[in-house]
This record gives sequence, structure tokens and C-alpha cells, in this order.
Amino acid sequence: MIKNLILMLVVVGFIFAACSKTSETPAEAPATDNPFFSEYDTPFKVPPFDIIKPEHFIPAYEKGMEQQKAEIEKLVNNPESPTFDNTIVALDRSNKLFYNVSRVFGGLSGANTNDELKAIQKEMAPRLAAHRDEINLNKKLFERIKTVYEQRDELNFTDAQVYLLENLYKRYVRSGANLNDEDQAKLKEINQKMSMLGVQFGQNLLAETNEFKLVIENEGNLAGLPESSITGAAEAAKAAELEGKWVFTTHKPSMLPFLQYSEKRDLREKLYNAYTKRGDNDNERDNKKILSDLIKLRVERANLLGYKTYADYILENRMSGNAENVYELLNRLWDAFLPVAKRERQEMQAIIDREGGGFKLASWDWWYYAEKLRKEKYQLDDTELLPYFVLNNVRDGAFWVANQLYGLTFEELKGMPLPHPDAQVFEVKEADGSHCGVLYMDFHPRTSKRGGAWCGTYRSQSRKYGEEIDPVVNLVCNFPKPIGDNPAMITLENVETLFHEFGHALDNLLSNVTYGTTFRSSDFSELPSQIMEHWSMEPTVIKHYAKHYQTGEVIPDNLIDKIEKSSLFNIGFIKVEYLAASLLDMNYHTLTEPQDLDINQFEKDYFEKIGLIPEIVSRYRSTYFNHIIGGYAAGYYSYIWSEVLDCDAFEAFKETSLFDQNTANAFRKYILEVNGTADYKSMYVNFRGREAKIEALLKKWRLN
Ligand SMILES: [Zn+2]
Repeated sequence: MIKNLILMLVVVGFIFAACSKTSETPAEAPATDNPFFSEYDTPFKVPPFDIIKPEHFIPAYEKGMEQQKAEIEKLVNNPESPTFDNTIVALDRSNKLFYNVSRVFGGLSGANTNDELKAIQKEMAPRLAAHRDEINLNKKLFERIKTVYEQRDELNFTDAQVYLLENLYKRYVRSGANLNDEDQAKLKEINQKMSMLGVQFGQNLLAETNEFKLVIENEGNLAGLPESSITGAAEAAKAAELEGKWVFTTHKPSMLPFLQYSEKRDLREKLYNAYTKRGDNDNERDNKKILSDLIKLRVERANLLGYKTYADYILENRMSGNAENVYELLNRLWDAFLPVAKRERQEMQAIIDREGGGFKLASWDWWYYAEKLRKEKYQLDDTELLPYFVLNNVRDGAFWVANQLYGLTFEELKGMPLPHPDAQVFEVKEADGSHCGVLYMDFHPRTSKRGGAWCGTYRSQSRKYGEEIDPVVNLVCNFPKPIGDNPAMITLENVETLFHEFGHALDNLLSNVTYGTTFRSSDFSELPSQIMEHWSMEPTVIKHYAKHYQTGEVIPDNLIDKIEKSSLFNIGFIKVEYLAASLLDMNYHTLTEPQDLDINQFEKDYFEKIGLIPEIVSRYRSTYFNHIIGGYAAGYYSYIWSEVLDCDAFEAFKETSLFDQNTANAFRKYILEVNGTADYKSMYVNFRGREAKIEALLKKWRLN
């Protein structure tokens, strides 16, 4: 299952974009009141969300940048010759305040934004880009890094130090350190423009998602919808001051049940079209030109740095290595899954014809007829499952799996500062009772939160200042809210999403690295997350967490049996809509010439070329493909690349036992603890004893 992850790491990695100062920017508060200017006086030193105000961010950013510049100035003017300690370690330690404010701002602007934060985001984006360029293009700094780098074989460095040195050196080269002054000036200009376009894209998308409302006044138009969906829509109407009516939106928890169950074909069409047209309405929130400009700038940037395409630039650092390897995997799976999707289409058309529908299946019909097909083939109905999947129980099930594998325990903390009143927070402890970290979880959608699910950190684990820094992790989802007096209940897809993001959380919680500068790769980092999805659907695990919300009865075996049997259900659709988006992403980023693109035409031509059937819309159309704005440009393929790894890795448990301690210890030691500080291929080989094979993935989807 594919999740909408954008690592917060990426967000704070200066992907903000923006324009000039606006009047909405709040006035500065007195420096003494600014919580970023002193050590956090909170339990576990979590950010003091209760006293952080929008007006604290800009002064904290400014002071953070100033401090970092001063630290780097001191570093480059050090009269001693460059060493690992006085250069690499000093650089690693140079950003304390800047890091703290960036992490909190990144977290809040993703899940809890408002007009003030949006204005700050716009104002800061070009300034942050300039700050980063100032460091990346600092000649004296680069010379010192290079001197240490050139001694890497002579001195007695650890493997992690060599890895850091090689990748840090490469990062500077890739950021333009070797360019002449004229090209560096061009690069800076491109970076400025890119930063602004990225922010505008995201803000437009959130506004467009919040804009559309399908308002139903006539009760008859609710035909087919489950009670939970109707109650949710009534509550949404109340919130929109439309009491007595029903409101459905393009937020997925509202839209998907409507598409799945509504008998009103015209209304399904209306809602789904609104969803797929986001950012493509030729209004002031349109994203077409923004995306075209961004892709053009990316090609220019790649060319300037000596790469033929933006994908070449991105992928040389990834596990996949190059676009050829990515296309090879994507095309192989496209050829395998497209016929499956076509069969699914045929089966659904047969239902329409049998019912005398007299029309051809369209994209807005897919969920509705897929649901009918599921009932027919597997006698399984989502509404039959829902009562057993209480959100908090599923969450506890994920905790239980982490306990079985790694001995971790999770204890809810009360009275802690929260980023939003809906958030929950847990202390995570090791098997011996020692503190491991803090985990925030924030599950429900709101208009201030962007769509999808993701996991980042407010503070990452390291020992960069010589002592242990424990992680503070932040997991964010968009699951349906509790309705009435009932607890929140979630679909199977959401269950997998929760386990997925929880896998990212474990990767962060169990990190065991020395330096703060790490080099994670998206096509490897979906391994820790996606492997957790395997446990979520194991009968032993399901029985542990799936209990009826009223009776507490454990889910009956016949339902588990149906879940297992239907695991291949709709898989053609799921994979084709994902692969289409992955291929589109690659196609944008393998352009060799900067050019103005007609985004809709480009998309249309490409999908025709690869034979995407019109009944399936790419999982993301260009104008709302947030992944390729954030850190997943030329990287949306990462989920399927990692799926080869997670299927193969999970086999190691299947070959022994579900919670085999040796395998779990090896996974922790060779994958989770060292992620970002070692070569991906060796990490995997250390864990598995060999490289990953695609066979386990093919077996899972019955393709071999
Ligand atoms: Zn993920």
C-alpha cells in the first residue's frame, strides 16, 4: 500500500518557497519571551508548544542563521589545519538554534497552519534558500572539508566517519561548490525561485482542497451511504454553518466513502472531478504554471551542475543509482499490473451490464463497483469490518508489534505541551525500562493540515554534542474522526497506513548514530515503514488489535479469512494508479532541456503513450502531486523500490517466526540503528546475508 509520505526532514531541509514580505507577518515579540532562545523547560525537553507563538519564528530563524554563520566563520578561520573534529564535527554542531526552530516550524506548518504561519513560510523560503547557499558555496569551508576528505584513507577513521565525509563532500559538490562565481550566482538565483514556487504550490493545494463542498440538501441524495458517512457529513455541514444539510469534501476521509457507496452516479462524478481538478481550475490557485516553472528550473539546475537531467542528479545518491534501473522496475511492474487492472475493469463492467446500467464504467465509478465486486467475490463489505478496527486499538496493536520485536513499551503522557489539542503523546521505553524517546501522534484531518500521512521528528537522535540526544518523533495522519459517541474506526487501508508511518517512527526512535548529519535515501527508507504493513495483516496481529467497539469481541476467524482471501482485491487498480504517478514523475524529471510545458497536454500524451486506461486516474495528477514538490521529485518510485526490499526482508521472518528475536535484532542493528550513516546495499546484505531479490514481491502479488 502506498502512503502519502513527505518526510518532515525534507520540509525543514529548506524546501520552503516564497515571495516578499506581507502585511500578515506578525510583529516581533520581545527577545526574552522567545521560547527558542533558551533550553526547553519541559518534560523530556519537548518543544513548548503551549507558549510558542507565530511571532517567535522569524526572530528565532534570524538569530539561528546568525549563530550558524558565526560558528562557521569561527570554523573556517581556525588557524589549525583542518581535522575531522575542528571541521566536520564543528560544522555538524553549528546549527543548534536554527535546527530547533526549523523542526518546530516544519511540523506546525504541515499539520497546523494558519494565515500567520503561511505568511512566515512565504517570507522565509527565499531567505532560507539564501542562507543554505551561503554555507554550501562557502569556498573556505569547502576547502577545509576537501582537505579532510582527501586524507580519509590515511587517517584512522571509523566506517561511519568515512561515510559521513564522503557524502558530505559529495553534498557540497552537488550543491555547486566546484562551480565558478558566475555559475554560482546563477545557481543561487535558481534556488531562490524554486523555494518560492514550492511554497506557493503547497498553499494553493491546501486552499483548493478546502474550497470545494458538495452540499446535499435532499436526503434522497444520500442513498447507499453508510451511517458513519452521513453523520460525518452532517457534522461537516454544521461546522460550515449549513445545519440540516450534508457536506462532502475532497478530503479523502470524506470523499472515499462517498465514492464507494453513493448510488448517485452524477454526484460521485461531481465530487471526484472536483478532487482531480484541484490546482487545475485556471484560477488564482492554479498550479500548472508553477509546476512547469519548477521543472524547468530543475533541469537548468541539473545542467548547471553537470548532469543531463534532474533525475540523473537526484538518483546518483539513491539506492537505485540511475533512471535506467528505476524505469526497468517500473516498466516491468507496469506490464504485469496493467492487464490485472483491465480484468478488474471487465468484471465491473459486467456488473453494470447485468444491472442494465447502460453506461461504460468511468473513473468516478471505480470505487462503487469495486465495492460491489468485493461483496460478490469475497462476501466482504468494509462496513462489516469497520466495527472491529477501532483506531486506538489498532494503534495499541502497532505498539504491541514493536514490543514483540524490540521489547519497546509505550506509555501515554498527560499534561504535556501538544502541537494541537487532537494530538496524543507517548513515552517510549526500552525493554530494560530506560528512556528511548517521545512519540507524538496526530490522527484526524482538519483544514489546517495537508492531506496524506507522514512521520518526521521535532528532534532526531544523535550524540553530536558528546552526550545522548533522545528523539522526539511526530506521526501525522488523516483518519476519520470519531462520530457521535462512538470511537474513531478506520478502514483496512488506514490500518496499513498507521503501521506504515509507525515504521518510520521506529526508524527514528531506534536510530543509534553519533553525528547529526545523516544521508537517508527515500528508496531505502520506505523499507522500515513498509515492512510494518506486513505485520499489520498477519492473523495473529489482527486478532490482537481487532476487537468489536461495542462488545469487545475479537474479530471472528471467518472475517480474518475473508481479509486474507481478498488481499489481492483491486490490486490492479492500486498498483496502476501508483505506477502511473511514478512514471509521470520520472518522465518530468528525465527531460534534458529546460522548456515551458503545457502540463495537461504533457500528462495526457504521456498516459496515452504508456496505455493508462481512462477509467483510472493517476494517483496524483500533476497539479496536486505534492510529493514531487517536496522531497520525492524523481523519487515517487521509492515506494515500489522499497517494496522489493520489504517483501524480501519480511520473508526472513516468515522463514523463522513472526517475531523471531535474532531476525528482529539484526533488523534493528543493521537497518534501523544505522540508517543514514552507511551504504544501503551493505546495510541490507548485513541484515539478510545477501542482496534483496524481487521474487518475494512477485509471489505476494501472484505475478510469478
Ligand atoms: Zn513512508
